[in-house]
Amino acid sequence: MYPKIFIKPERVKNIQSGHPWIFSHAIEKKDNLKSGDLCEIYSKNVLLGIGYYNAETDIAVRILTRKLQKIDEIFFVSRFEELKKGRELYVKDTNAYRMIFGESDGIPGLIVDKYADTLVLQFHTLGIELLRNYIVEALKKVFKPDCIFLKESVHSKKIEKNMSNSPKLLYGKLKEEIAIIENGFSFLVNIVQGQKTGFFLDQRLNRKSIMEFTEKKKVINFFSYTGGFSVYAAKNAKEVASVDISKEAISYAKKNFQLNNFDVNKHKFIADDAFEYLKNLKKDYYDMIILDPPSFARRKSQVTQAIKAYITLNSKALEKLPEGGILVSSSCTAHIDELTFIKILHQSAVNTGCSLKVLHSATQPFDHAYNLHFPEGRYLKFFVLLKGKI
Ligand code: SAH
Repeated sequence: MYPKIFIKPERVKNIQSGHPWIFSHAIEKKDNLKSGDLCEIYSKNVLLGIGYYNAETDIAVRILTRKLQKIDEIFFVSRFEELKKGRELYVKDTNAYRMIFGESDGIPGLIVDKYADTLVLQFHTLGIELLRNYIVEALKKVFKPDCIFLKESVHSKKIEKNMSNSPKLLYGKLKEEIAIIENGFSFLVNIVQGQKTGFFLDQRLNRKSIMEFTEKKKVINFFSYTGGFSVYAAKNAKEVASVDISKEAISYAKKNFQLNNFDVNKHKFIADDAFEYLKNLKKDYYDMIILDPPSFARRKSQVTQAIKAYITLNSKALEKLPEGGILVSSSCTAHIDELTFIKILHQSAVNTGCSLKVLHSATQPFDHAYNLHFPEGRYLKFFVLLKGKI
């Protein structure tokens, strides 16, 4: 049905046990293939699955199925129906969530986020982008959305080469700004101008969890984006400050406070560099500091630098907190695992001369569930910590 790729016998185990990636050095021989082509994958004469190929990347093949089957609209309809069922069972109290989480959901390279009746897509690979027509038709059938919008992934475009991947309305009438309701709070999401697909849906449960600790507190939320954690905190905190380098994000944070009927004069909205603002922050003023920075390492080679940056940031925040204060610290850097992040937090406490107790820790919500066969899908670390004496 498709051109064939043969895997070296010593490389088969990991693939056979469920990992969706095949690295270029694992390939023994292959038919004539160009980047983006679908291919059948074999170990000797045993079929391992069907995937798509890219000659430009270390990950040469990503597996779509373990069966010999045609990759077409029917294939995607059946996958999407299965995923929809799972989401409907376990994702609660929101009309915005991740519907398809790439490799972890068995569809490598594809991200689909649902914002009310709009679906926002991101293609992270050339191979999945070339299957676009099947995907869009299947999404229409299964989810019956009002609109499907394609969001660019600049980073993937650089790595994958030859992707077109420019932002585009793929179906329906575009609604640039969508009001979503998450755990009873409203947020305006700009799917065209916003970061990622528009909102950081992966922190939904973590945003909710901080409410246990915000009562009557003065809270400062660094890297606030459009005020996710801030809005939740504002429900029972004394005052909340949101700091983000993006002016647009801060203007949305303010709009989101208004949308939830919070008095914007009681709270602060600061468009500034978090590192600078933290440096000049009045000591002991805030009794909760939230840190949710963007990824500090896209590549493995950047990990040492990233660890240093996390330690500096967390140490600086701890210096500004009073004893009994709370540090909420998150990391979305996939190359830094949970244990390393715990060591980062520990080192930050050592630097500051304080103790830190873990009041709560968490990772990704159900709609971003990672698959144990694909540890690369586990990226989010989230800690609520109490500062104390040594
Ligand atoms: N906590 C947010 C998501 C944060 S995403 C939520 O729940 O929605 C990371 C944010 O960090 C982005 O909004 C980005 O604009 C911001 N950012 C990146 N570099 C920054 C810097 N140096 N100072 C302040 N904000 C920064």
